[in-house]
Amino acid sequence: MYLTEKAPAKINLTLDVLRKRKDGYHDVEMIMTTVDLADRIHLHPLEKDEIVIEVENGILPLDKNNLAYQAASLLKKRCKVTTGVKIVIDKIIPVSAGLAGGSTDAAAVLRGLNKLWRLGLSLDDLAEIGLRIGSDVPFCVYGGTAIARGRGEDLTFIDAPPKVWVLLAKPPQGVSTKEIYKRLKPGEMAHPDTAGMVEAIRTKDYRGICERLENVMEPVTFSLAPDVARIKKRLESSGADGTVMSGSGPTVFSLIANDQKAHRLYNTLRGFMDQVYLVRLIGERHQI
Ligand code: ATP
Repeated sequence: MYLTEKAPAKINLTLDVLRKRKDGYHDVEMIMTTVDLADRIHLHPLEKDEIVIEVENGILPLDKNNLAYQAASLLKKRCKVTTGVKIVIDKIIPVSAGLAGGSTDAAAVLRGLNKLWRLGLSLDDLAEIGLRIGSDVPFCVYGGTAIARGRGEDLTFIDAPPKVWVLLAKPPQGVSTKEIYKRLKPGEMAHPDTAGMVEAIRTKDYRGICERLENVMEPVTFSLAPDVARIKKRLESSGADGTVMSGSGPTVFSLIANDQKAHRLYNTLRGFMDQVYLVRLIGERHQI
């Protein structure tokens, strides 16, 4: 008997960095939503009191450096669970891509083990535990669509955007989030129209949503990884409805409403890149 929990990736419709804080973190303001590009987390109960990580199709740490391990370990301690679990991660979301792949695995482990071990915790309880692992984990615990402020943990849930196609392209070149934050100058940059995006989502103004996709990290990531800028240009000129980089990159995504256009652009992009995905926007919250 084992339990499977889906761990969907997130994208940023807007990403703003407001200021550097005294504790070293940055205050952000971003609109995040979930997409149907997901890892599968299989949870097998073990009699022995241990946490075992296995990864299918991917290379990830198998020890406490894996965020899924940290999630299980924190939950075990908090609820004094004395049996163990084998966590099998079927890795579909590209790693270090700006899609919160690690955070969503941790969140799925929290949701899944809450069921497997019949702990009876609420999503709020799980989000609180998740914040100890990373700033994006609380959002991933709930899923859905939210404005995230503070370090990313202060969440205001909003309506889901239209469930259009999302074409994601991850260039091979990696980027260091730390390096990007170091180079960002929050006082000197133009900021996304976050309030306008929230209003466009509320009124189901799809064109308004596409026009307001914006990420303040783009110029810095583009200067460090010019391939990312090239892919964004290509998507923009291909007729996608709106295009922006997710998180600190390097993944760039486009929203596309038309089925045929979405599949045509996907096939074209697959011709010269390996990591290309065509999925639906989800935007709805998880149920406990
Ligand atoms: P974010 O959008 O939150 O910045 P990301 O998509 O850029 O995240 P991740 O895929 O979450 O990045 O991975 C970043 C690092 O976390 C990698 O160095 C990876 O080894 C480590 N990591 C630990 N556990 C996991 C996991 N379960 N899945 C993916 N990465 C993990």
